Amino acid sequence: MPKPVLLVVDDTEEELRLIQRDLERRYGQRYRIHGERSGSEALEKLWQLKQGGERVALVLANQRMRKITGVEVLTQAASLFPDVKRALIADYSDAESAIDAIKKFGIDHYLIRPCQPPEQNLYPVIDDLLVDWESRFLLSLEGVRVVGSRFSPESHQTRDFLVRNCVPFQWLDIERDEEARRLLAGAGEKASRLPIIVFPDGTQLVQPTNTQIAEKIGLKVHPGGTSYDLVIVGGGPAGLAASVYGASEGLRTVMIERHAPGGQAGLSAMIENYLGFPAGMSGTELARRAVVQAKKFEVEIVTPQVVTAVRVEGSSRIVTLSDGSDLRCEVALLATGVEWRRLDVPGIERLTGAGVYYGGTLAEVFFCRNEDVYIVGGANSAGQAALHFSRYARSVTLVVRADSLSKSMSHYLIEQIEATKNIKVRLNTTVCEAHGEDRLESITLLDSATGDKETVRTNALFIFIGALPHTDWLEGVVARDDHGFILTGPDLAKVAGDGHRPAGWPLERDPFWLESSVPGIFVAGDVRHGSVKRVAAGVGEGATAVQFIHQYLNSTLSGS
Ligand SMILES: Cc1cc2nc3c(=O)[nH]c(=O)nc-3n(C[C@H](O)[C@H](O)[C@H](O)COP(=O)(O)OP(=O)(O)OC[C@H]3O[C@@H](n4cnc5c(N)ncnc54)[C@H](O)[C@@H]3O)c2cc1C
Repeated sequence: MPKPVLLVVDDTEEELRLIQRDLERRYGQRYRIHGERSGSEALEKLWQLKQGGERVALVLANQRMRKITGVEVLTQAASLFPDVKRALIADYSDAESAIDAIKKFGIDHYLIRPCQPPEQNLYPVIDDLLVDWESRFLLSLEGVRVVGSRFSPESHQTRDFLVRNCVPFQWLDIERDEEARRLLAGAGEKASRLPIIVFPDGTQLVQPTNTQIAEKIGLKVHPGGTSYDLVIVGGGPAGLAASVYGASEGLRTVMIERHAPGGQAGLSAMIENYLGFPAGMSGTELARRAVVQAKKFEVEIVTPQVVTAVRVEGSSRIVTLSDGSDLRCEVALLATGVEWRRLDVPGIERLTGAGVYYGGTLAEVFFCRNEDVYIVGGANSAGQAALHFSRYARSVTLVVRADSLSKSMSHYLIEQIEATKNIKVRLNTTVCEAHGEDRLESITLLDSATGDKETVRTNALFIFIGALPHTDWLEGVVARDDHGFILTGPDLAKVAGDGHRPAGWPLERDPFWLESSVPGIFVAGDVRHGSVKRVAAGVGEGATAVQFIHQYLNSTLSGS
């Protein structure tokens, strides 16, 4: 397999020569570096690469070229290679239009020329873009292979687990790939025992659980110790932020995550409103970076593992795991977020994982090339998914119960949806039935304004209809509101037994802002009553909780 390509386009000969030389020096071992002197030559080259079945990782194009501009080249590049990373080379005076291009055309970054010295003005941006590209596409060809059926729920579970844990893999579908059928026969397995995961060392797992996969790929499924300063339950943005701040400030910290670090944010195709990332970044990439950061500070990350109970024993908090083991700690932080609400109409439950999916978009994007995809929901998560799928699918239809998107979706997403030709929005519409034997074949849509029903063919329905906390396991432990969100700090006045302190509160002081009705059990992120449901808010609360945890620890040590 030839090395993937980095293409640079600049009609200023000297600039082109310098950038090519600098790219060659740093990336030449892993990539083939091509240079083109005009937009038309670059488009011709991209077309040839496409025809030859080659991989293009990155295109860099000078905005100020004669005839065809950099933005035009980058826009065409994405239509030929939907996953390619794209950066514009601009003059200082073009910075505004470069930012505009990021906004309008989803361009990943811009560089101000001259990109010298490269260590400062070229490599940091290119390194970032290539790390992201490689984590998804490069290793998949050399690493893990998954043999499965697109419409099998077990195969979906495996794909989803690998994608969310940032494990690149090559997907081989028994309905399409000869290689998949050969591996299946070689393993002596029947199609009913899918998926099969083939590892680079030749070993295989047949229809594995997530725990078996985790053990094989080197995740830590059981904690190394039994006693910690801080146990964090949940590895979304709030839990990850708390783990980084906690461990970096000297607390022995373990984070227990049921599925994969990143939480809901890990499902987001493109987070555009997180400070400091003007071109946005995928939730998996944000999670991948946060995990590296947490590990740098020696946070123990345990996943997949579920916390089933929390209790108080004297000054300790005891956290019970699903295998029955207990962890003792000074402080527990609950950051368990929320989960999708289920769509309760005929056919949906039976076909979940076989064409119907709750949010799990990134793992399914492989299959949506040239398909007609339906997305239920009118909030930001649905809008982001629609934009993401529109890069691959023939058409995307957003099915929205309300009569307008503006009530529930951010303005920037509505603008992008309106500007995307293959996205259609059906307002006042709900899905009232899903059809198909062993896979989704069609859905029936109900127009609530007219009462008309229409059945449309589709193999892919993604549901994004709001979320609820699953905190029943905390019943009788911490105070919650009527929807299950956990009350903290001043909100505990709502269940106050005495003055503004919760019933049974044993201390002289009031609960801290992010403290639950039990001293030493803190809460951060979406699961908290009154929280702002955003990545930045979760990160902020996770970091802030650690501040209160220090105050709590200091006050227990001093006996006050
Ligand atoms: C598709 C999508 C797109 C989004 N896009 C954006 C965006 O662009 N910008 C933005 O600001 N916000 C966005 N959001 C919202 C944002 O992702 C959430 O507000 C944020 O992830 C909340 O973080 P959290 O840590 O509180 O909870 P979560 O992200 O929900 O994480 C909670 C974690 O806890 C784990 N967990 C739960 N119970 C247990 C248990 N008992 N034991 C162990 N682990 C447990 C879960 O598996 C999960 O990983 C999006 C959400 C979705 C779903």
